[in-house]
Amino acid sequence: MHSTVSTPRATIKGASLAGLYTSLWVPELDALLDAGHAFRRAASCSRLYLSHAHVDHVGALPSLLGMRGLMGLREPLEVYCPHAIVDPLRAGLEAFGAMHHWTLDVKLTPMAPGDEVRINRDLHVRAFATRHTVPSLGFLFLRRVKRLRPEFLELPGPEIAERRQRGEDLFTLHEHLDLAYATDTRPRVLDENPELYDVSTLILECSFLDERKSLDAARAGGHIHLDELLERAENFRNDALVLMHFSQLYKPAEVVEILDERCPPALRAIVHPLLPRTPREWWT
Ligand SMILES: [Zn+2]
Ligand SMILES: [Zn+2]
Repeated sequence: MHSTVSTPRATIKGASLAGLYTSLWVPELDALLDAGHAFRRAASCSRLYLSHAHVDHVGALPSLLGMRGLMGLREPLEVYCPHAIVDPLRAGLEAFGAMHHWTLDVKLTPMAPGDEVRINRDLHVRAFATRHTVPSLGFLFLRRVKRLRPEFLELPGPEIAERRQRGEDLFTLHEHLDLAYATDTRPRVLDENPELYDVSTLILECSFLDERKSLDAARAGGHIHLDELLERAENFRNDALVLMHFSQLYKPAEVVEILDERCPPALRAIVHPLLPRTPREWWT
């Protein structure tokens, strides 16, 4: 029960439907984004990033942990989430563990907007504020790599090593913004975090697409309406803008029709809607 979207820097596998379930797996980052449904192929993933605690984003976590138990995985799942949900999440998992007669263990890392955690050698994750109706976060995955300053590019290897030993500063640090995930948010998230426009793959919710939902109603629910992305169409410099978390108001084919009709060509060229492979697969 999942679809795949391939972008230049990442593969996104999963399903997302507003109010029902959202869970995406990015194998390149060994990352699961939300746990609104538990899919077996992603159960061995090392890290889960929880945007917020609405049940369509967190409700399948006990199942996911149960799957990991069955698979014999010893390492607890690392879970990154907003501070506000740590205690209730722990209590909820304890309750499920008691019913299941098996500990549903996770390693929780609470995050606040601006917090950054190093995941491995180059890869870091930075939390940013999203604007929903409950405490929520977005996650930006970035790589910091050292590059030799241009003036030293011609130097032979042994000399570089020698100069490094002498403590000379030969390198500059480059930041590659690989992927960001922002769901269940008003579009203010884009205005407050303009670096999102430069991330290679931006995964963004777009719950509502046309007049079937008014802008006011979309804002009241803490969601994005396509009208609000079109107002900002020229800002998106991403390689790929993956839109997801569509409302059930729309059929999958309608989503494509509306995007084709409403998006200017330059924006449409980078937009990848996350849709089921068949009309009913995970949409109804
Ligand atoms: Zn949602
Ligand atoms: Zn929500």
